[in-house]
Amino acid sequence: MFGTAGIPLRCKGTASAEGIRCVKKLGLGAMELEFVHGVKMGEDAAEDCRVASQEAGVSLSVHAPYYINLLSEDKQKLALSRHNVLASCRVLEKCGGGKVVFHPGYYMKLEKANTFALMKESFSELRDACKAEGLKKTKLAPETTGKHSAFGSLEELLLLAKETKIGLTIDFAHLHARLNGGLQKRADYAKVLDAVETSLGKQALKELHCHFSGIEFTEKGERRHLPVASNSPPFAPLAQELKARKCGGTIICESPLNEGDALALQRDWLNA
Ligand SMILES: [Zn+2]
Repeated sequence: MFGTAGIPLRCKGTASAEGIRCVKKLGLGAMELEFVHGVKMGEDAAEDCRVASQEAGVSLSVHAPYYINLLSEDKQKLALSRHNVLASCRVLEKCGGGKVVFHPGYYMKLEKANTFALMKESFSELRDACKAEGLKKTKLAPETTGKHSAFGSLEELLLLAKETKIGLTIDFAHLHARLNGGLQKRADYAKVLDAVETSLGKQALKELHCHFSGIEFTEKGERRHLPVASNSPPFAPLAQELKARKCGGTIICESPLNEGDALALQRDWLNA
């Protein structure tokens, strides 16, 4: 199913629960709550979201705050990063559960091999903390990142998902930037989906959590998100490949046009 990144533009200024009803009216099936500048949603608002999403049949996820670096050497920053992930999990659990999307961190001056071990430890701790608090409906889903300086290649996140039993979010725009424009044809997307199946099994392809938009990039990686019509990367070959494999799950549209492009993706999917 297809959804918006946050409240649809045409309903901006309303509460998240109203945004969920707006998503339903538009004919979409999902909304990612944007906690990008901090987790501020209170208990009442979370309960309103839970009721609205259940009534509307709109599935929810959360994008945790941008400020997260689980590789920070600064103890305070590290603690704040963990707090931001866990606080997002607690609120989403109250909203009914789903995937908690976050950018894992930056390599900084660390050796890449060391960052993997550190990240594995962090993800395991966060997973255990969720379990200890009884957050059963919420799953951690770190996102593939678009900058070469950021931890989060597809290979890294698949291996971590396999070893720590958490989820992942596949941001195809970010992958496209990381691969210097490498997602063009069905075969390119097929490689991504093959990697998911090899690491996590066939069932993982039925429960994908994805982001899609166009993207502008340089040799350093992503620069900014673009409308889907930029065809950078193209959606049609991905839709064909997902359909051929009977994949399931959610695609959140992170284009600046938000719901307009989410609807365009859904249309292209139906026509693929
Ligand atoms: Zn994304």
